[in-house]
Parts: sequence; structure tokens; C-alpha cells
Amino acid sequence: MKLRIGHGFDVHRFAEQFDADKPLILAGVTLPESRSLLAHSDGDLVLHAVCDAILGALGKGDIGEHFPDTDASFAGADSSVLLAEVLSLAKAQGLALINADVTVIAQVPRLSPYKASMREQLAKLLGVAQDCVNLKATTTEGLGYLGREEGVACHAVVLLGSDE
Ligand code: MG
Repeated sequence: MKLRIGHGFDVHRFAEQFDADKPLILAGVTLPESRSLLAHSDGDLVLHAVCDAILGALGKGDIGEHFPDTDASFAGADSSVLLAEVLSLAKAQGLALINADVTVIAQVPRLSPYKASMREQLAKLLGVAQDCVNLKATTTEGLGYLGREEGVACHAVVLLGSDE
């Protein structure tokens, strides 16, 4: 069986002011938090990290090459649509997702109340059973830019395998 592993990382900065038109969306879940992320797309950095991990496994560059932030058609883009496009690239190479392991790093907001729904939604978007997706949340114990509550970051690792 052909196996391919990939890693992705993304970070987005918090906007100074909350913009109700740009709610905080992580792993496809809109969180009831009064914080917005600065982004050309909807700012869902969890899905961006997962897209990059899949692209990494495929040897297909990064999300910025496929969906440039200079392209007006991606303004406010629903990141789940970008993920669906990346999954179709995997399918075209005869590869399907085996599992994904995701770590979201945020000093704020506290993600524990949302982790289960984020995991559930991520599995749904990836088209796999929930036990194929793990989603962890951590802080940086107040250290660095994430600890100063300047933004949210995410690491993702995926394993793809031949789907026949
Ligand atoms: Mg991003």
C-alpha cells in the first residue's frame, strides 16, 4: 500500500476589533467568541493547516500557491471549499485520508468547550470517521506571540493511503 505523510502549519493574527461579519471559525465551527482573525479568507487556520498537510503529502506545494490571497475570488472564502478542492487533488492521485492529528495553539479563547464539535466537523469535512481525526488544544503557557494573545496557530499531520 502506498502511504504518504504530510505536515501543515498556519497562524492568523487577531484583529484589533471584533467584526461580527468575520466570526472566529476554527475547524469549520463558528465559535461564539467576540474575536475576529485577520485573513483574506474566512481565517479558518485549522482547515488551512490541514490543507497544507494534505498538499505536503501529495508533494503539491502549499495552500498559497493553490489559492493565492492576491486572487479576489478567494476573498472571504469558505475554507471548507478549499479543503474539498485539496481532497479532490488527493483523490485524483488515488489517495485517501487515513488519519489526521491536529494541534491548535491558542492562549485565548479557551478551546476545551469546542474541541468535540471541532473534531466532529473536521471528520465530516474530511469524509472520515471521527476516530480517524484527533484534535488537541494547548496554550503556550503565556510565552511568545501566541501567549500574548496576538493570534491562533495550528499544526496538522495527515497520513494518506492508496484508496484502492
Ligand atoms: Mg491561513
